[in-house]
Amino acid sequence: MRTRGMDAARWAARLMVAALALSLAAGARAEGPAMVAQQVSPSAWYVEGVSALGSPANQNFISNAAFVVTPAGVVVIDALGSPALAERLLAEIRKVTPRPVTHVIVTHYHADHIYGLQAFKAQGARIIAHGAAREYMNSETARLRLEASRVELAPWVNDETRLVEADEWLAGDKTLTIGGVEFQIRIVGPSHTPEDLVVYLPGEKVLFAGDLVFRSRIPYVGKADSRHWILALEKLLTFDAGVIVPGHGPLSHEARKDMQLTRDYLRYLRASMGKAAANLEPFDDAYKNTDWSEFEHLPLFRVANRMNAYNTYLLLEQEGDK
Ligand SMILES: [Zn+2]
Repeated sequence: MRTRGMDAARWAARLMVAALALSLAAGARAEGPAMVAQQVSPSAWYVEGVSALGSPANQNFISNAAFVVTPAGVVVIDALGSPALAERLLAEIRKVTPRPVTHVIVTHYHADHIYGLQAFKAQGARIIAHGAAREYMNSETARLRLEASRVELAPWVNDETRLVEADEWLAGDKTLTIGGVEFQIRIVGPSHTPEDLVVYLPGEKVLFAGDLVFRSRIPYVGKADSRHWILALEKLLTFDAGVIVPGHGPLSHEARKDMQLTRDYLRYLRASMGKAAANLEPFDDAYKNTDWSEFEHLPLFRVANRMNAYNTYLLLEQEGDK
């Protein structure tokens, strides 16, 4: 009897452990990917999204966000891809400082960088972005994208999620001093998007580059204005940046090298595809005849290069018509 009683107790304990493991697994799913603020410089931190497409499992945590702690409050750069993620970022900020978020600077109005804005707005933060984003804000594209995201990213993006206007729409470069810390906001669009801007922290030589600089990988060019993007990278190269916090992926201590790589790749795309378009060479032939050896070892080459080349070919065809 005694041993049986022991068995029963042991079984009960095992069941409890199993139940606990199950609930932990469920909890982990609800929590999404880990978010841990990493220190970049004496006053700057960032959180790094996963390298994937947005999904309910990752809560749309596919981009980075950063924050800078000043004596007058916290300045956040980019708002992440859902309100829940923004709340998690606020929790990370509270581990570093009790000071409130006073400003959010948005590098560009792509869904994965802005769907968290409402959480910061609710805390009274002032949102700053480039005025060219207003066109997107009021576009059918933005409305449809949000509608689709409410289905694809439910429940993280849902009927409560909305597009949030900036409190201040910039028309040009601006230097903000908050709590004695200087933030150089520089307009670098139209490049990746019409409204691209970057934020430079000269005191600590940190450049928050949005999606303008891709680290050791083939950039996603999409419908970008690559001519202007190259000019923007030239502008960024004039900063004495030591560290780049990109919009996606790990931070880089090889700022110049990464900027040069992105620039050289864009230049090469334009030169090779421009020549093909001018000679009326069909795209498929031009792609096959182009020597990609300088770039084909880079991550995402297989995934992105052909589409980048095709978009550039179309762009150069149009530019040639003008
Ligand atoms: Zn992005």
